[in-house]
Amino acid sequence: MKAFPLIKHSGIKAALTGCIEVNDLLIKQVEKLQENPEHLKKLIAQAKIDNKGLQPYIKKSSIRKCLTCGTVNQSHPETSYCFVCDTDNW
Ligand SMILES: [Zn+2]
Repeated sequence: MKAFPLIKHSGIKAALTGCIEVNDLLIKQVEKLQENPEHLKKLIAQAKIDNKGLQPYIKKSSIRKCLTCGTVNQSHPETSYCFVCDTDNW
């Protein structure tokens, strides 16, 4: 069975496979965090240190909720990761 029958260029296929692998990795990391609240606490503590002196970017036009820690509309001004737990899980 071909997953992407229209794509013949192997470079593109490799890129797509790469994206899928990254996605799988992200899902696994989130599952790991949900199973392991201690690790989440560590991430939040580390983000607090890293973000010291910074103001979170508050988005008002739409609602963005971090699926890792539940923070709403507070992202890092430069990376746009969650300001509280420093994951990219919007
Ligand atoms: Zn978060």
